[in-house]
Amino acid sequence: MQKTGKITVRGIVQGVGFRPFVFAQASVLGISGSVKNLGSEVEIFARGERFEHFLAEISRGPPLSRIDSVEVTPVRDEIPEGFFILPSGSGSLTGMIPPDIAICNDCISDIFHKGGRYNNYWATSCVNCGPRYSILNTLPYDRERTSMTEFPTCAVCAREYGDPACRRHHAQTIACSTCGPELELSDTRGNRVEDLDPVREAADLLDAGKILAMRGVGGYHLACIEESADELKHRLGRIEQPFAIMVRPDFIDRLAIVSDQEKRELESPVHPIVILKKRDPTAHATISNLHTIGCMLPYTGLHHLLFSHLKHPLLIMTSANMPGYPMITGNDQAMAKLNRDVDFFLTHNRRIVNRCDDSVIRDGYIIRLSRGIAPKRTAIDLGKHCILGVGPELNANATLYRNGFTVTSPHVGNVRNPATLDYLQETVMNLQRLLGAKFDIIAHDLHPQFLSTRFAREIASDQGLELMPVQHHRAHIAATTTEPCIGIAIDGVGYGDDGTVWGSEIFAGQVPDLKRVAHLEPVAMPGGDLATRFPERMLYGIMPDKKILSLLAERGWSDIEMGVLEKQVVRGFNVIQTTSTGRVLDAAAALLGICRERTYDGEPAMKLESAAAGGRTEKWDLDFSTQNGCEYLSSRSLMETAFIQQQAVHDRDMRVIRDIAASFQYNLARGIAHLALHAAEREGIQKIALSGGVAYNQAIRETIRKEITDHSCECIINRDYPLGDGCVSFGQCVYAGKLGETQD
Ligand SMILES: [Zn+2]
Ligand SMILES: [Zn+2]
Repeated sequence: MQKTGKITVRGIVQGVGFRPFVFAQASVLGISGSVKNLGSEVEIFARGERFEHFLAEISRGPPLSRIDSVEVTPVRDEIPEGFFILPSGSGSLTGMIPPDIAICNDCISDIFHKGGRYNNYWATSCVNCGPRYSILNTLPYDRERTSMTEFPTCAVCAREYGDPACRRHHAQTIACSTCGPELELSDTRGNRVEDLDPVREAADLLDAGKILAMRGVGGYHLACIEESADELKHRLGRIEQPFAIMVRPDFIDRLAIVSDQEKRELESPVHPIVILKKRDPTAHATISNLHTIGCMLPYTGLHHLLFSHLKHPLLIMTSANMPGYPMITGNDQAMAKLNRDVDFFLTHNRRIVNRCDDSVIRDGYIIRLSRGIAPKRTAIDLGKHCILGVGPELNANATLYRNGFTVTSPHVGNVRNPATLDYLQETVMNLQRLLGAKFDIIAHDLHPQFLSTRFAREIASDQGLELMPVQHHRAHIAATTTEPCIGIAIDGVGYGDDGTVWGSEIFAGQVPDLKRVAHLEPVAMPGGDLATRFPERMLYGIMPDKKILSLLAERGWSDIEMGVLEKQVVRGFNVIQTTSTGRVLDAAAALLGICRERTYDGEPAMKLESAAAGGRTEKWDLDFSTQNGCEYLSSRSLMETAFIQQQAVHDRDMRVIRDIAASFQYNLARGIAHLALHAAEREGIQKIALSGGVAYNQAIRETIRKEITDHSCECIINRDYPLGDGCVSFGQCVYAGKLGETQD
């Protein structure tokens, strides 16, 4: 008995080889009909005796797909014999933009298969792998709407594209050395380095210690061997900040401790940078002076070819841009901006349509949401409006909500300069174009001076749209859960309701009704941002005591400098009040002599964490008090205990300093957990959500989690979005949507 039906599949069904998968199943099961891409869904007409079996296979989908729903509806018209892949239609755009996928094992084999037609071809890909978002102009995802349209297929590629038996059947990025994008190696004056094999030549140059700019999937990297790390740091003026590395797969275990979960992440279709613990915390110090090291495995054909020639087992691979600035994507721009930093350029002629940095993961938590993960789509009901969230200032990205889905863009950077603001604008336009969406509400940070806030105001006034300011830490909690909860948001800085700098906020309630119920004691930030750069100022802000001034005098502070600092704190001149957790950690790093000047975001706190790794912890007294209905934890009391212990250290005994650092983190975390637990008890709520950049600190996060679960509460930490500010644009959308629902 033959059965007929129209099957509509929604979810991540494009750029994952869905149509060829359907075709193959139809062939095996003797199904007649057709399959067609419709933007964010796939439409299948099917007729055959094994219809139910076919439907079951389709509902499972190919490995990279994620299926939200499968719907079967009756068809009236006759379905002719045979099965066909039809040209794409436009259909409805429900938010599916395929992310870039690391090269698959089959394609790696093809590249190294002597005599094969993909042998040595750097841009080899198939239905299961290759660039997607980074080359995409518009949806549906088909070659003519990507930058691959500039490379018409040769006859052999065209044949494979049309051959249902081939892995490259309907592979939109199919290309070979005859018809596809080409590599070019050039010097800093743009002169082509003549060689038969630019990859082999590039590997030789790297082995010889040269620094190369390499055009990749979503932008440019700077690459060099470990021995050239110092040279690269000096050229970039980035002396302290750790570099990420790309490691030959057989070498990674010798360098770092890799858990099974981390191994799965490293080898996943995303191929992110994974922050791993070094085997020897002091080794590879020119790459990273922390106890951790950011590693990724080769993720394109070019990388695999490069490592097959390279004698060194690892390469520094850092984004070719100043921290926080947009990644460089164009060849002319790279030549203009990088020719003093590098010795050679290894470029290709496949246009990068959408910039996309490498994603970063630590302990299973996303630090940077980007290549392979973003654009990230989440099914969530936020009402009938179309909402844009423009994010905060640091680690910004954009999120668009429409029709039951949010889509979050890849990492944009620190929107503190016009270049990054332009990139944010471009990203918003890309999302709008790809999703065919027109937002009517713009959610933004409460901070009036942020460039992202000004950007939101400009579009709102141009287009007559509604603005919705969302307090930074409430956005963090909204990004974590929409259920009733106690929310802990611990991070560097966020503009508070009262105009002071928040960063250790405990809320009670349910989005959008989140009441601030506890936090760290407000302390002075003498000189404002200067206290962020020089954490010894912060130390005095927390503990304004003569004993601290004597310590600073021993460290070479002049009487004049100390006089100014003292006046600022005593008279409150040029002082902002803050409850930031990050600044308290910075001050502890300063007290222990671990970091006296911050040269990159998060440096003092990260160095404190490294210094504390493996340290013994002891319980210190926690000093709680209540003012204006809010409970406080005294940071000063913790700092005083640390100070007394620090004074007793002889000859900078690093083991004792390690133990003080570990105890400081432990007790701060314990204190914050108890602020939340007290609130949980008062409010009768069992769920405690944790977010904020400080939660990347493993010791702090795990202490808070343990305290919470030991007291029979549930601890919710989001693994789908960053804990840091990369979750804020999503949280802004959620918050604005929920607020809209209560108002409508
Ligand atoms: Zn492949
Ligand atoms: Zn070809």
